[in-house]
Amino acid sequence: MPDPLDLGLVTSVDARGVWVDVGPDRLFCSVRGRFYETPGDQRRPIAPGDRVRVLRTSAGEGAVEEILPRRTKLSRPAGHTGRQEQVIAANVDQMAIVAATAKPRLRPGLVDRLIVAAVTQGIEPFVVLNKIDLGISGEVEEVRGVFASLGYAVILTSAVERIGIAVLAARLAGRITVFAGHSGVGKSSLLNAIDPGFDLRTGAVSDATSRGRHVTTRASLLRLPGDAYAVDTPGVRAFGLWDLGPGDLQAFFSEFPPLAERCRFRDCRHDREPACAVRAAAEAGEVSPRRYASYLRILASLTEAAGD
Ligand code: GDP
Ligand code: ZN
Repeated sequence: MPDPLDLGLVTSVDARGVWVDVGPDRLFCSVRGRFYETPGDQRRPIAPGDRVRVLRTSAGEGAVEEILPRRTKLSRPAGHTGRQEQVIAANVDQMAIVAATAKPRLRPGLVDRLIVAAVTQGIEPFVVLNKIDLGISGEVEEVRGVFASLGYAVILTSAVERIGIAVLAARLAGRITVFAGHSGVGKSSLLNAIDPGFDLRTGAVSDATSRGRHVTTRASLLRLPGDAYAVDTPGVRAFGLWDLGPGDLQAFFSEFPPLAERCRFRDCRHDREPACAVRAAAEAGEVSPRRYASYLRILASLTEAAGD
C-alpha cells in the first residue's frame, strides 16, 4: 500500500496553520495543538524549515501528521525572562553573511560575530561582499583574504551590475540559507537579482491557493529557483550569542585553538593573561590583528552578559 502521507517543507507559520511546500505545490495545512507547543519546558513549536509529513485533505489543503527530527535550529531568546527560546527557522543549512564593500562602510567585526553565531548553531557560514561595482579597496581585499584563509567561502557580488549572482545562486541551490547582515548592505537586492519575480519588501509569500495574503508572525522561507530557500532576514539582533559562555568563544575563532596549546594557562582566554600565544601571534601578525581585536570585543560582551 502506498504511503498516504507526502513529505513537505514548512515555509511559514501562523496561528491558523502552516504553509507547506510539497514538490511544486504549496498547501495550507492544519496543525494539531501539540505541534505548536508541548507541555513542560521543552517547547517545540513548529517552525519554518521543519520537514513534515502531511495528509492531503482537499485541493490546496492538508494536515500535518508528523514533524521530522530537526538537524539545526536558528533560535533567539523569547519570553519575559529571555530564557525561553523562539525557533526562527529549523534545518537552516547555511548563513550568507552579507556585507557591503562600501556604502555602508565595511564592518568586518560583524562578520566575525555572525560566523560565531552561525557555527554555534550548527549552520555553515559563508561571506558575501556586495556592491563591488563601487570598487574594491585594499581593506576589502585584506578582509577577503583573511576569511578565505580561514576556509570560509567568500563571494564578491554586485546586485546592480549582476556580478557574482550566478555563483551565489549555485551556492543556494538545494539548501536553506539565512541571510544576515546590516540593513542597507543589499540582501533584498541580491535575492531580487536571483529571482526578479519575488517581492521581498512586502514579506508576503505568493499564494497559489487564492486565500489572499496572510500576515506572517515570524520568519518565512522564500522559495528561489533551483530548489533553494532563503529565510527572510529577521534582523541582525536575532543572531545573538545568547547561549555562549566567554570560555567557549575561542573555539569558534578557528585559528586560535591550535595556538592556544602554547598558552601558559590551560584555561587562557587570550585576553590579558601572561604568556598568551594567541596574543603573541596577533602582535606578530601571524593571526589577523583585526580578528584578534574582534575576538576581544565579543569576549567582553559575553563576560558582561555572564556577569563575571
Ligand atoms: P538590505 O537592507 O540589506 O536588504 O539592502 P537593500 O537590498 O535594500 O539595498 C540597500 C541599498 O543598496 C539600495 O539602495 C540598493 O539599491 C543598494 N544596493 C544594493 N546592492 C547594491 C550593489 O550591488 N551596488 C550598489 N551600488 N548598490 C546596491
Ligand atoms: Zn592565550
